[in-house]
Amino acid sequence: MVVFFMDPLTTLTELLRDLPGIGPRQARRSAFVLAQKNPHWRKKFITALIDAEKKVHFCKECMHLFTRKRDDETLCPICRDIHRDDDTLLIVEKDADLENIEKTGVFQGKYFVLGGTTSPRSKKPEKEIHLSLLEKRIEEKKNLKEIIFALSANTEGDDTVRFLRTYLEEKCTALEIKMSILGRGISTGTELEYIDTDTMIYALKGRG
Ligand SMILES: [Zn+2]
Repeated sequence: MVVFFMDPLTTLTELLRDLPGIGPRQARRSAFVLAQKNPHWRKKFITALIDAEKKVHFCKECMHLFTRKRDDETLCPICRDIHRDDDTLLIVEKDADLENIEKTGVFQGKYFVLGGTTSPRSKKPEKEIHLSLLEKRIEEKKNLKEIIFALSANTEGDDTVRFLRTYLEEKCTALEIKMSILGRGISTGTELEYIDTDTMIYALKGRG
């Protein structure tokens, strides 16, 4: 019988390489660090991962990851908040963008997290972003008046907006929903993940 042996350091390195912004050298370095951590730290780390699997879920309306306080919660605190405007939907690429925009306290509508980027050249855009869920969200919210694209000011962000504008045009025209894009007070290349309050105010006012 052939027994396959996978070096745990190699497994750790490969797993860490799946994380955003981690290159092969950094992944290897972090694998060594993890392997040397004391048992107490490692136990906490493993428990946190297991807890995240049990308690962190996608909101069924906006696809934002949130921690459930009760097992039957399906909506995140933002979607549950009756004081927020249901007529504006801000579309972002990832959870970190949503969280940072929330920190500015400027936007009072609802969100949708795409979970990635796509482009007009993509063969399978539905594999790259939560496309059918976004369509469902637009169709189901009867009082939705405006969709604001809040993608980062880089090639991926621009391509995603171009794709979505074309893809959603017919539906939005039929439902009388305006599509706009966050004003480019955000300079080229700026990630929404790092946007500050003043820039967000300017970007929202300058949308068009
Ligand atoms: Zn939500």
